[in-house]
Amino acid sequence: MDKRLDNFEYYYRFIEIIPGIIAIQEQFINYKASCFLLIDGKEGILIDALSGIFPDFIYQLERKFNIKIKNLYLTHAHYDHFNGYDKDLIENVYVHSSEAKWLKDYYLKIEEIRQEIDNNGKSKYPSFFNINDFDLKIISNYMELKDGDTINSGRFSLHVIHTPGHSPGSICFYEISNKILFCGDTLYDGLIDVRDKYSDRIQYLYSLEILAKLDIKLLIGSHEEPIIKKDEINLNNLIDFYKDLIRNGCSGKYFSGQKHIEFWL
Ligand SMILES: [Zn+2]
Ligand SMILES: [Zn+2]
Repeated sequence: MDKRLDNFEYYYRFIEIIPGIIAIQEQFINYKASCFLLIDGKEGILIDALSGIFPDFIYQLERKFNIKIKNLYLTHAHYDHFNGYDKDLIENVYVHSSEAKWLKDYYLKIEEIRQEIDNNGKSKYPSFFNINDFDLKIISNYMELKDGDTINSGRFSLHVIHTPGHSPGSICFYEISNKILFCGDTLYDGLIDVRDKYSDRIQYLYSLEILAKLDIKLLIGSHEEPIIKKDEINLNNLIDFYKDLIRNGCSGKYFSGQKHIEFWL
């Protein structure tokens, strides 16, 4: 057992995207999910909350950055994005209306989720975490977001863009002043799942088309390496590639320099 895994600072990887915006990654878990902290003075806004491997994840974040986190905004309601929620610290949870129900009643069996996290024993955990005891939080107090909403919090302004496809309630948050797009699982440098039972391939195409129209400097994805710079990817070429996949009904990997976006259809 590696005792370093018990250390919050060691267990999570912290990546500064720009000053005041930090990605926090579950680097030792199979799917390497990230969540994002936007810091404004003593306040932090959290976009997603990871899987809850550390039971006091939110408290540890508050302590490390000397902030208070009141609001949690979810890119979607898959467990690897909400389960770090802490009912004693978070006052408000925001989620798209079409999948808010999953926060109370998830659609996968707990055994399936444990298997997915564990990845045949390849994931690494702190000594106080036991995958066989892993369970999902139940969040029954939430507020619903919809396309076109704007979240104003201190120096940050986040525009809500509904981008269904990976899941019905997937949303992207567009941070207007820095032109940063938090994509959730809609787009990242890695394997994107559009074959889940609640995924929709055609809606996903329309969502990519919406993103291609935005003026974006950084695309921030929720798995693998989180940062994609604007000049590292041409979204119109990516869309053409994806259209071919739908036509042929097969999965495929799009290469753009160092980045590779794989669509799992
Ligand atoms: Zn997801
Ligand atoms: Zn995910």
